[in-house]
Amino acid sequence: MAPPHIRHIRIRRLDLALREPFSISTGARAELRNVLVVAELSNGIRGFGEGAPMAEFNSDSQKLTLSALERATAAFIGREVSDWRGLLELVDRTLESRRGAARAALGMALLDAWARWRDIPLRLLFGGAESTLRSDVTVTLVPAPQARLAARRIRRMGVDTIKIKVGKDLDEDQDRVLAVAEAAPKAALILDANQGYGPRDCLKLLRRLSRHGITPALFEQPADKDDWQGLRDVHRFGKVLVAADESVSSPEQALRMAKERAAQVINVKLMKAGLLAAWDIALIAKGSGLGLMIGGMVESQLAMGCAAHLAAGVGGFKFVDLDTPLWLKASPMRGLRMGRGGLYDLASKRPGIGVRPD
Ligand SMILES: [Mg+2]
Repeated sequence: MAPPHIRHIRIRRLDLALREPFSISTGARAELRNVLVVAELSNGIRGFGEGAPMAEFNSDSQKLTLSALERATAAFIGREVSDWRGLLELVDRTLESRRGAARAALGMALLDAWARWRDIPLRLLFGGAESTLRSDVTVTLVPAPQARLAARRIRRMGVDTIKIKVGKDLDEDQDRVLAVAEAAPKAALILDANQGYGPRDCLKLLRRLSRHGITPALFEQPADKDDWQGLRDVHRFGKVLVAADESVSSPEQALRMAKERAAQVINVKLMKAGLLAAWDIALIAKGSGLGLMIGGMVESQLAMGCAAHLAAGVGGFKFVDLDTPLWLKASPMRGLRMGRGGLYDLASKRPGIGVRPD
């Protein structure tokens, strides 16, 4: 029987209400405006992909993502899905790197369709190194009393790493971190400033926290994305591991980071420049001995599930930040999800990403 080809690609808005705003130093999201791609094969198998454009990150938007995808899909119709690698390369040739969410959504739908056709979980394609991950859960830029309640909730979920957004107001940030540390004294803490304030304020925050006996396990993006010296300074003077998130969005930047070592960890995200770029960034980081973190924008179970397959497949991700489905009022997806303790259990034989829209 001839191998299946791509029959249709459908593109839809994925507008989702949030339980509470997802608030970080660069702004707050009150609702999600993501994109869903459904790739249908000639044998009826369907693959699903999600794009999560984040204006605060790279000026991407739902509108730009939809229109880029609408222009791109014609080039894929009729192609054989067995050439998954060729399809991913075509995704990168048809969509510019700044359309990372569009690249991710289309690449994800095609790979999901391929893996469902081959009847294998997607993590095997990415290398099959591991089959479980444990995610942190985030406390966003909320006032301290709310942060305390959130930390208690997270502790009750059995999660042992709490990521705390900072970067807007030094005093409020300090109070928020102290409240979390008090409510969950055994949890490892990750701080994320999202370029909100510079290395000087980040170091000030670290000094204040250290007076209370708090040393974060990691500090994400404690400087503007182009301020690599700032990243270096926070590591050196703050004696903390630093993760480059906004600073590394392409394999080229990952290579530069491998050489210059301004940060010790790279946060890999599918939405930065699509699946191939994320995979390459992960391999560059791993091969050069940089630490690995997997993260995302504000995404549903579908994109986070795909990120989980990538991280588990490549292996060695010490920091896992795949918790944003918790913010959704109702999940539009079923299948693979984060369980108790932040656990992603990818050991099942469920093919593809293992998530589909309801
Ligand atoms: Mg970050």
